[in-house]
Amino acid sequence: MNDLSFLYTKAGIDYIRKKYGFKNSKSLGQNFLADESVIDAIIDAAEIGPEDFVVEIGPGLGVLTAKEARRAGKVCAVELDRALIPILHDLFGGFPNVEIRNEDILKVDLAALITDAGMAHTKIIGNLPYYITTPILMALLEKRVPAESITVMMQKEVADRVTAPPGGRTYGALSVACQYYARVREVVQVPKEAFVPAPKVDSTVLRLDLRQEPAVKVADEALFFRLVKAGFAQRRKTLLNSLTGAGFGKETIKAALQAAGIDPVRRAETLSLEDFGRLTDAFAGE
Ligand code: SAM
Repeated sequence: MNDLSFLYTKAGIDYIRKKYGFKNSKSLGQNFLADESVIDAIIDAAEIGPEDFVVEIGPGLGVLTAKEARRAGKVCAVELDRALIPILHDLFGGFPNVEIRNEDILKVDLAALITDAGMAHTKIIGNLPYYITTPILMALLEKRVPAESITVMMQKEVADRVTAPPGGRTYGALSVACQYYARVREVVQVPKEAFVPAPKVDSTVLRLDLRQEPAVKVADEALFFRLVKAGFAQRRKTLLNSLTGAGFGKETIKAALQAAGIDPVRRAETLSLEDFGRLTDAFAGE
């Protein structure tokens, strides 16, 4: 059964759910995509070709997997829910380039998985389980997973934070971290009605192109993130006050802010990545 086009509709998803007696788990974030135009937007944005290895996070009933299988050299789809595995095996048994893994994406050694696949390029794709969007993004970025891009759907509010420029209320530690490791861009906004069952929130697909070098070069990366975390932990306070949370005394903070040319009454949300970079190097030099 290699023609899986029936999957791309609500009727197709209902058919599979009935056939296998499958019930969606709310706690695993199982809102399945049932709009082929959105599925195509994700697949097109990821620019998958025969040289590519695709790692899919949470295939569910395989609506994205079916399109990846036709375009990519190899696909590995990592699904936590054991109940979905026999369904995915039935659906993808006829695709020798698709491997289904029953694992928690947060526990998979992605670097080893990608090396073992032996393909020229790797792309990560997924309609993310929303309850762990930030941990998944941060794990992929901080571990510097050896992939070229991450094209994923997430809750709109989280996507807005990932792409936010400095100066607004949505700009925070997640924006800085994502933009430090990747070039981020919005692909498409997706209404609740595109899913079965419909979630309570709207969604956005983002593409993150992983940078070879971080957006700013700093003397001490751990310190950079310590300052970002402290700055945004008390985002309504001035930098002079919020940065005490990073473990520095007021005089040291004043001197570092002055060396970096940053007014001590500014708040973290007004600082660009370059500002945080300069500030990090000023602290490192103190
Ligand atoms: N890709 C499918 C689609 O678009 O219809 C399903 C997307 S659904 C929003 C998220 C999927 O991630 C579910 O199938 C869920 O079981 C799976 N999932 C949840 N937590 C996971 C984890 N820690 N590791 C891997 N998969 C997970």
